[in-house]
Amino acid sequence: MAEQVPYAVSGTNTRGRRHPEPSPAARSEFQRDRDRVVHSTAFRRLEYKTQVFVNHEGDLFRTRLTHSIEVAQIARTLARAMRLNEDLAEAIALSHDLGHTPFGHTGQDALNDCMREHGGFEHNLQSLRTVDLLEERYGAFDGLNLTYETREGILKHCAPRKAKELGELGRRFIEGTQPSLEAQLCNLADEIGYNNHDVDDGLRSGLITLEQLDEAGIWARHVAVVRQDFPQIAGRRLVHETVRRMINSLAVDLIDETSRNIADSGVGTLEEVRKARPLAAFSVAMHAEHKELKHFLRINLYQHHQVLRMTNKARRIITDLFGAFMEDPRLLPPQYQQMASADKPRAIADYVAGMTDRYAIREHRRLFAVGEI
Ligand code: MG
Repeated sequence: MAEQVPYAVSGTNTRGRRHPEPSPAARSEFQRDRDRVVHSTAFRRLEYKTQVFVNHEGDLFRTRLTHSIEVAQIARTLARAMRLNEDLAEAIALSHDLGHTPFGHTGQDALNDCMREHGGFEHNLQSLRTVDLLEERYGAFDGLNLTYETREGILKHCAPRKAKELGELGRRFIEGTQPSLEAQLCNLADEIGYNNHDVDDGLRSGLITLEQLDEAGIWARHVAVVRQDFPQIAGRRLVHETVRRMINSLAVDLIDETSRNIADSGVGTLEEVRKARPLAAFSVAMHAEHKELKHFLRINLYQHHQVLRMTNKARRIITDLFGAFMEDPRLLPPQYQQMASADKPRAIADYVAGMTDRYAIREHRRLFAVGEI
């Protein structure tokens, strides 16, 4: 691998782990972070959590697991091309969605409503809580004891009130400084990932059509070239050939624009990256196209009546589960009952957030359907 640039995160400029540990024998600190994430329980659960489509509705739709792997693949490409820390980028990408509730954003919004009087619920903070506290795998500490830089990358945003409680990790939200470039790029790799796979999944589900998609400039531009290059192309092959070109053009644009920003800013160290303006960015033209695609998906896919019917059910499930456990915490599994004796609403939020889509559906049936046990 090419040598890293001096402003990349490395074993020498890392702020380390909360609980000091001997350096790993055959891996970098950031490989170790990635490996810990891959072995975690929360990571395995991502297979049965969804963003837009409920898991059992089809075998071909993205889950949070395949989404995280796609984001990691894009993030690694970006990091390697820019001679940043590829292992760190991978570790952040694989852990960025660990705190997500079942049923995607609806689940998060519903749980946040349930927790309104009890400090709220935010998936980003929950991802951090998962790696810092909830995973039970090591004798010496709670959580996975990841490096500061992986944790910094997981915490993409944070309200100032919460930031104060987080100490050193929260300080940048108060001071207005930036995380590492690896973290900044992962954030945009996430957007590249979900916009493009939602186009693919949206078409596959039949909720959006090729004709509708022509409204989105980035799609229209690429599909025109695909049709010119392959006049006979149709169906899935047309979709995949277009989506792969969109992903590639976004990644290349991001690398070019970010490299220009780095050169213009003159940053030479990680600390200078943290103090500079955000350096990872799309070009102005690409940013506009990307935003337009996001808007298209919001109107035509996320607010599609069939999706709304599903999200309505999801909201009811989360709200019912939370209410039932609040009313009688003895219904919780024993380990959560113990946690509930310290902080009932938070323990219930942890339990509900950890559920997979199908587990939440089953748990709802067990608690509410007469005749089920
Ligand atoms: Mg994501």
